[in-house]
Amino acid sequence: QTRILTGITTSGTPHLGNYVGAIRPAIAASLAPDVESFYFLADLHALIKVQEPERVQRSTLEIAAAWLACGLDPAKVWFYRQSEIVEIPELSWFLTCVAGKGMLNRAHAYKAAVDKNRAEGEDDDAAITAGLFMYPVLMSADILAFNANQVPVGRDQIQHIEMARDVGQRFNHLYGEHFVLPEALIEESVATLPGLDGRKMSKSYDNTIPLFAPRETLKKLIYSIVTDSRAPGEAKDTEGSALFQIYQAFASVEETQAMRRAFAEGIGWGEAKQALFERIDGEIAPLRAKYETLMARPQDIEAILVDGARRVRAQHVSPRMKALREAVGLRDLS
Ligand code: ATP
Repeated sequence: QTRILTGITTSGTPHLGNYVGAIRPAIAASLAPDVESFYFLADLHALIKVQEPERVQRSTLEIAAAWLACGLDPAKVWFYRQSEIVEIPELSWFLTCVAGKGMLNRAHAYKAAVDKNRAEGEDDDAAITAGLFMYPVLMSADILAFNANQVPVGRDQIQHIEMARDVGQRFNHLYGEHFVLPEALIEESVATLPGLDGRKMSKSYDNTIPLFAPRETLKKLIYSIVTDSRAPGEAKDTEGSALFQIYQAFASVEETQAMRRAFAEGIGWGEAKQALFERIDGEIAPLRAKYETLMARPQDIEAILVDGARRVRAQHVSPRMKALREAVGLRDLS
């Protein structure tokens, strides 16, 4: 059986990139037979980047409401908030004790932070927290706790799945075959959306188009996507065009081909932006209405999350941690 796991960090308002790259494909995948899906709000991960409690709290509600509005059925999939699974940090410690420090030194996110310090003439580890350094181990715990065998990720995350395999394998070698080693599921057709400034759309870069921005705001943001200065009538490049890439993620193959022709024939940026706005709004508007209804009743969202965590702990995590505590030589708490 296939077990799929997807998390979104509760570090800000969910955006079109999260929708196209995670929510939309995950919900489609959960409908397949023989698939068990685990969707979680990665709020422990959020603490690595965000030290504003209100932001983490608000983001948790918004991301939960986004999943539900987009069609996640909490009766059919496992849907929970990471920090409510108190066994996750415990498992993370077990894994920390077998993870190679050298391996973590090579993690992309950590290396990028070191490179940035070097470029700025700072000490290698200046302002880098142990949380950022340990992030791949926490992610390993998220995956291995459920023996998820398929983890849909973008190319930049493949390394983290390899690290989860590595620590899982080391643990198995020392204590017996407890973990299934996960595989990265690279969805070639799933694009990485660029943000307003052309970099990857990311909550951390403040360059996002919120998934459920009100209609007028959505329009304004789409009109603010960076373009070059070519006038209407001049041929435009689709290559490297953030506008075109976002359009492609929302349009059918035929519509995309038509837009490609329109670019070559010199469609004006205003007209292209209007087409993009209409395409996105057409898909999002019905979901936005559901989102707004859900956000008006935060207590209902909370109840769904609390129930999801309770059930997934009882069914999956508690029995598993009992076996793992015993395997490493700790007292049985049950
Ligand atoms: P942060 O800046 O806090 O890391 P983020 O917005 O970059 O946040 P995550 O919460 O780390 O995103 O990622 C959640 C999911 O959304 C992942 O599956 C990731 O691949 C997907 N995702 C994030 N940004 C994009 C994007 N620009 N295009 C496509 N998928 C994306």
